[in-house]
Amino acid sequence: MVDLQNVTLRVEHLGKTFGNHEVLKDIDFCVQKGEVISVIGASGSGKSTLLRCINMLETPTSGHVFYHGKVIENKPKEISLYRANVGMVFQSFNLFANMKVLKNCMVGAEKVRKKSESEAKQLAMTFLKKVGMGAYINARPHQLSGGQKQRVAIARALAMEPDVLLFDEPTSALDPEMVGEVLEVIKQLANEGLTMVIVTHEMAFARDVSTRVVFMDKGVIEEEGSPEQIFGHPKSERTKAFLSRFT
Ligand code: ADP
Ligand code: MG
Repeated sequence: MVDLQNVTLRVEHLGKTFGNHEVLKDIDFCVQKGEVISVIGASGSGKSTLLRCINMLETPTSGHVFYHGKVIENKPKEISLYRANVGMVFQSFNLFANMKVLKNCMVGAEKVRKKSESEAKQLAMTFLKKVGMGAYINARPHQLSGGQKQRVAIARALAMEPDVLLFDEPTSALDPEMVGEVLEVIKQLANEGLTMVIVTHEMAFARDVSTRVVFMDKGVIEEEGSPEQIFGHPKSERTKAFLSRFT
């Protein structure tokens, strides 16, 4: 049963078409407060497009996104505040190359949340320390490893004090030895109760941290359930076929 009081994000009849390619088909999906949802599925199944529509980086072709029951419209004024509340962490980090680590984590709080410089600095420091990057505040992004860049990107999103964080394959661009340090940070956030939607190919991680797993296939949610249901007892033949690649 969905408890409407606790619904943070809801997607209704969401469709996205590029040219004549229907990438998302009538998706209904909801995120309740405190959930950690892993989205899994083959490359090209529409996972990134779903996150990008939720974050309004893409305008849905049909359907709506609701945040605390209010429909989100793709208007510049509303959208930057919405994106502070519903943050996103990308595969490719997307740090501001011309800003030091500290400033990367301050600008959103200053510009969007209208914090003073000292408040923004305090927030940035708090979250940089949390992700283990407190010693790198004066570094430039190009001086950091991939794992360090991604931890800064997570701190930057957290400094906006979001109530949901969306992650699009946060470890896919990393060298294998750096995957663990980033997953560890995300796991810590999960344990603290942050609401998150994580697109990932790290199946052991998804099984470990998720409260719910969503399997996408060819633009639809083919199956969803608890990690135990999806990984232990998948119903759909497509889910079974997908998961068999990881064993
Ligand atoms: P996933 O993240 O699951 O790998 P995507 O959401 O990135 O899948 O892509 C789903 C499909 O949509 C792919 O076939 C991809 O080529 C297509 N697609 C994604 N973005 C665009 C775009 N901006 N223009 C055209 N096609 C796109
Ligand atoms: Mg993707």
